[in-house]
Amino acid sequence: MSDVRPSDISMSSGVAKRVWFSLVDEYRTRVLPKDKSLLMWFIGLFLSVFKFMPLDTFRSRYTTTIADRIYTPYKVGEGDAIRDPDVFWRQIKLGVHEHTHILQYRSIGYLLFAYRYATSTRARAMYEAEAYATGIEMDLWRTSGAAIIDTGALAARLVAYGCKPSDIESAKALYDIAYARLRGAKKWKDPVLPARLSPVALLTIKTILTSHS
Ligand SMILES: [Zn+2]
Repeated sequence: MSDVRPSDISMSSGVAKRVWFSLVDEYRTRVLPKDKSLLMWFIGLFLSVFKFMPLDTFRSRYTTTIADRIYTPYKVGEGDAIRDPDVFWRQIKLGVHEHTHILQYRSIGYLLFAYRYATSTRARAMYEAEAYATGIEMDLWRTSGAAIIDTGALAARLVAYGCKPSDIESAKALYDIAYARLRGAKKWKDPVLPARLSPVALLTIKTILTSHS
């Protein structure tokens, strides 16, 4: 990898776009605007009718991945970094998160994945926990192991996914393992680091380093 310190790299709109471009190219996915999708409108309506979440919340706040299609509520690379300095970093992490779901469904087939995700809060919590754990990888990489991560707060996000307290506890345990495994600057200088990271996070880090140099 490179000698540059990740914390010195500006996570700009251009870097976010290049990350998404490389992920879409590697995993042969498509990124589509959520607000123009009829399918997303129907799903949002379904969720609001069953009081899962309001239609506007679904359409404006959540990215939804269905098979190879990723529906984003905004255009990648667009955002106001002056008002919100982390906007493009979050877009980068979102790309890693959603492509982790792509690998999950490809490992067992989309129908089985969708069935488990929809019918079991436990399975949903574990799929989301694995995807959110890539955010821990990315934040620790960016800070050379120094990021303080509140794994309890991260697990509590799964309440919005309809997960039960026991599912959330399991997700927290998974985050704690990922965090303990990777934190500490020494480990980040370890030459076997690539073996410790998920493939999507690793590809993203390589893209950031090459688009920076
Ligand atoms: Zn997710």
